[in-house]
Order: sequence, then structure tokens, then C-alpha cells
Amino acid sequence: MGGHRSNQHPVVRLCATVLLVGAWGLAATASASCFDVQVSAFRELHPLILQSPARALAEVNARIAALPPGAAEREPQTVAALYAIRARAYGQMSLTHPERAAARAGLALLHDPTDPLRLELLASYDGSFSSPAAVTKATAEIKQARALLRPGSRSDVCLQISEGFMNVVRDHMSSGIRELTDAYLRSGADELPAAHVGASEGLALALRNMGDGREALSLIDQQIRWDKARHAADDLSGGIYFRGEILRSIGHYRQAIAAFKESRAMSTAVGDTQSSAYADLRMCESEIALKHFRAARLACNRAAPVLAAGHVTAMIKETRVQFAKIDLADGHPGRAVKILDQVLHDHGTDMLAFTVAPAYLTRAQANAALHRYADAYRDLGTYLHLYQAHNRANQTRLRDALEIRFQAKQEFERNAVLQRKLRAAAHRATKQRQLMDWMEAAGIAGALAIALLSYILVADRRHRRQLVVLANEDPLTGLPNRGRTVQLATEALAAAWAQSRPLTVALIDFDYFKTINDRCGHAAGDHVLKEFAHLSRGALRAGDIFGRWGGEEFLLVLPDAALDSALASVERLRLLALGIQIPCPEGRTEEGLRVTFSAGLASMAEGLRTLDEIVARADVALYEAKDAGRDGVRISRARRGSDSEPLRA
Ligand code: GH3
Ligand code: MG
Ligand code: MG
Repeated sequence: MGGHRSNQHPVVRLCATVLLVGAWGLAATASASCFDVQVSAFRELHPLILQSPARALAEVNARIAALPPGAAEREPQTVAALYAIRARAYGQMSLTHPERAAARAGLALLHDPTDPLRLELLASYDGSFSSPAAVTKATAEIKQARALLRPGSRSDVCLQISEGFMNVVRDHMSSGIRELTDAYLRSGADELPAAHVGASEGLALALRNMGDGREALSLIDQQIRWDKARHAADDLSGGIYFRGEILRSIGHYRQAIAAFKESRAMSTAVGDTQSSAYADLRMCESEIALKHFRAARLACNRAAPVLAAGHVTAMIKETRVQFAKIDLADGHPGRAVKILDQVLHDHGTDMLAFTVAPAYLTRAQANAALHRYADAYRDLGTYLHLYQAHNRANQTRLRDALEIRFQAKQEFERNAVLQRKLRAAAHRATKQRQLMDWMEAAGIAGALAIALLSYILVADRRHRRQLVVLANEDPLTGLPNRGRTVQLATEALAAAWAQSRPLTVALIDFDYFKTINDRCGHAAGDHVLKEFAHLSRGALRAGDIFGRWGGEEFLLVLPDAALDSALASVERLRLLALGIQIPCPEGRTEEGLRVTFSAGLASMAEGLRTLDEIVARADVALYEAKDAGRDGVRISRARRGSDSEPLRA
């Protein structure tokens, strides 16, 4: 819904950074060997990482295993260089923990804080973070290391890029962009190509996360060209993956899929299965955006087992969220809910933040499809809450970032090209963000919220109507129940008094009704009551009030009827009752049973004012009718005391 861009959630743009850098960013940057490491083992093996990290790893592991005892003390530089290669190879394969372990082993051997090899190891170590807290710690370490270096030296610029990256990852966009812009300008493309590319990657990442996909794309294309020129397959696959991510974030899904395919082919060729799986996952997401659910499932099916083997919990969960989306689209909302229930248990604390909000949205949609509107509404609430929280953070961040970019622009006034780019980027970022926020807030959330709200309102109205009906109607006969009958009768009585018109009340009670129940069953009794109500209603005037007084008793209120016309009406009902067949089940017999009733009449003309008084009189007359042998009608004669007049024997 809502145009080609609406599928990309701002939270996605914001938080995908963590994933991108974790999966590829820093590893790719550093594999271009930013630091000027002169140790021969490093210089010899480093190019191998670019061709095949798996081969580099096998080679370096063999060399470490073959080290004679005491080698670490005698030749710390050589041994540390082997660990640096091992760390970079793992980094290239997105294996965070082994990378960190290898870098730590190398760092333990070196003590000169300005040694490029030590800094290379430090960049590996700090780059292989696993949590936001680790990123903060790593940033502090890098800062510390930089304090000992000559500002603007090669090592300093390389670490500055790491620091900038980490700031972007930490969501400290303004300092991130400041560092990266600075590094970009300090490292001319010719003198420090690796640093220059690293900085441009970082800037691209930051720009992309700020919603400026086009600027990010132009920067990343610079890097891809450079990687192509030197045939750096791994960096190239990373760059192209990133290109896909940028294209995806600006809604160019077809081009994004092409990029992910290309990246996956390259990663597969160098044995980097994790990177292939990431590309498959992003391909799956892009296909979902295009509503190509079959293709999406194929891609996610490829990613799932590889991610599971790598134990990357957050990514495994992300894949399952995609499966839920596909199931929902395929008409299996129940399956989608089941998956998402598992994914979101513990509120998805082990998931990347940007996956959690869409997971709630998907579950809201699935629950709505299952007509579980209460659940859907709750999920939608959680989604909107997360969305708004991130959106607020985004707005603040964007303002800071734009401000700092303006400062950067002034600082580097001589760089006209950059200036132009910055201005255009700032403008586009603002416009794009406004558009996307509107589309997303009003589109995705709005449409679902409106659908749910209107359902709830309609359901509520229907419910209220039902309650009103239930409150007034006798469920067996459909006649007004006692309460409603009292209400209607009271109104009619007041009107009769006001207009000085007659009104007569008849209380009707069936004769020997227990016997009907006993002989033919309760259902037969029910049938008689229903039938009587139905027939009577048809035989009465529209203005007559006929209600169930309780059990097998009925109250008839006849406005504008004096006693004689009231008697005629009751007589009609008596004949109708007589004609009712008792539906006696087989084996039982209704022989000798007749449907008759006794009735007592009382009239307002007797000087009775309230309904209670009139009904009490009618009740007395009814009692007399029963006493007189039933199947008869008696009229209350108030003026003659409690005596009532016999009308039928
Ligand atoms: P009487 O001539 O003295 O009125 O005899 P009766 O059997 O009708 O006695 P009474 O009015 O005291 O009892 C009413 C009976 O009607 C009792 C109850 O089993 C039956 N009854 C009341 N409400 C219902 C009902 O909704 N459905 C059925 N099937 N029977 C009812
Ligand atoms: Mg009764
Ligand atoms: Mg009775």
C-alpha cells in the first residue's frame, strides 16, 4: 500500500546499520588493509583473504600450528601478524567471535601503541563487536589509541574511519559523519586509496541511514569501481551487497535483487556462505516487497539453514519474520501468528530492533485476518509505540546530522564538489524523509488502524443494539418481556389519562399448563407458548400491548378499549389458543388435553390510576376465573368491592 517506498520502515533504515556493519562493513573496509603494516607474513597473506578467506584461514592455521615453542616471545611481530590475518579472515566470513579471539591473541603480544600491526589488530578486535555496549567500549578504545598518534597520519586516518563507522552504528550520526567526512578529505584517492574508500563507505552508510539513498549510492559506486579495478572479489561482493541495501531502502527492489544476486554469486565463489545467506535474506525481503511470494520463499529457504548453522539468532529470527509474512500472504494467518509468537516471546529482546516493530505489525495483520481483533489491536498498539519511539529519535538525529554537515561544509570550503553534494543531500534527505514518514505513518499504520477501529465501532454498535434487544425482548416468544411491558403499559396508561380515553388490561394464565409439560414434555409447552404469542400478536391491533408477564402468563393492555371490546379481543385469543395443537412426542399422548386459559380483566374506568393497581385487580379477577373452574374470563368490579362479574361459565 501507499506507493513504492512505503515498505521500508524508518526503523529498518535506522537499525540496518548494525546489521550491515556487523555482517560486512568494517570487515570489508579493513580488508582493504588501511594500515601500513610492513611485517612480511602479513603482506604475503593479506591478499589471499581478498581472494578466499577460507584458504587464507587454512594457510594461517597451518603456520600457527607449525610455530616452534617460544616463537611468540622471540618473534612477536611475526606471530601477531599471523593472528591479524586469522582475525581478518574470520571477519571476512562474518564470524565475530573467532575474529575477536584471534585479534585478542595477537594484541597480547604487542605493546607499542603506535605499531601499525597493533592498530590493525585493534581495529579487528574493536570492529568485531557483538552488542551496542561493545560498540561504545570499542569506540572509547579507538579514541584512546588515536590520542597517541600524529593527527592526520595514515594510522590516525584509518582509526578515524573505524571511529566514524562506530559512531554511525551507535547512532551518533553527527560525530560519525564529521569523522568520516574528515577522513574522506584527508585521504586523497591517490595517496591513501584504502582509507579513502573506507571513508566513502562509512559516509554512504550514514547517508543511507539518514534516508539519502541516492547520495549513498553514488559513494558506494565509487568504491565498487575501485574494487573492480583491482579485482578484489570479496570487497566487491560486500560493496555490491551494500548497493543492494541502498537500492532496497529507496524502493528500487528489482535493482536491489539484481545486486543481491550478484553479491551472492561472488560470496559463494569465495566460499563465504554467511555472506551468501545475508544476500539471500535481503533478496527474500525485496521479493516480499514486490509481492513475489514464491521467489521470496525460495530465497528465505536458502538463507535459513545457513544462518541456523552459524547460530546468528537475530538473523534467524529475522528470516522467520519473513516466513511469517509469506505465510500471511499465502492465506495462512494462523501459521504466521504461530511463527511470530515464537519469534516475539520475551518481546523479541534477542532481535535487532528494526525487526521487532515489523514483526508486531505482521502479527497484527495476521490476527486481524483471523478475526482476533483484540489481539490485532494490541499488536498494532505495540507496533505504533515502537514506530513512534524510533521516529522521534530519527527526527532529532536528522536535525543534528544536517547541522553538522553544514559545519563540515564550511570547514571544507575549498572542496566545491563536496559542498554541492552536501547541499543536495541535505535537501533530498529532508524531502525524502517527509515523504516516507507520511506514507508510512498514514499508509501502513493508518490503514490498518482505521480498518480495526471501524470494525470495533461497527461491532460495538451491533453489540449495543443486541444488548438493547436482549434487555427488552422475551427470547422464547419474541414478545416484550415483563420490564418492557410495564414500560409500554405505563406510557399507554399515562396517555389514556391525559386524553381521558378508556384502557383495559387483561391478565392471562394458561390452565393446567404443568400437565401439558408433564405429558408431552417441556418443548411441547414451549411450542404452545410460542404459537400462542405468534397467533395472538396477529389478532391484535398495532396499538395493543401484548407481553409475556412470566411463565405461562401474559399481559394484554388495550388502549381505547372499554370492557366490552376488550372482552371481544380476549375471546378471539381464547379461540386461537383452543386451536393450538400440542406437539406430543411419539409414545405419549395429548388425548384429553386442550389449550385453554383463564383471564382477569380490569379497566381504568374503574377509577384505578396506576398500572400496579389495575394489574392487581386483574389478578384478583383471574384468581376468581380459576376458582370458577378455569377456561373463563372474569371482570374486576372495583366499585362493588372485590366481587367480579362472571362472564363465562
Ligand atoms: P393452573 O391452571 O392452576 O394455572 O395450572 P398450571 O399448571 O398452569 O399451574 P401454574 O400456572 O401455577 O404453573 C405454570 C406452569 O407452567 C409451571 C411451569 O412448569 C410451566 N411453565 C412456566 N413457564 C414455562 C415455559 O417457558 N415453558 C414451558 N414449557 N413451561 C412453562
Ligand atoms: Mg401461572
Ligand atoms: Mg397456569
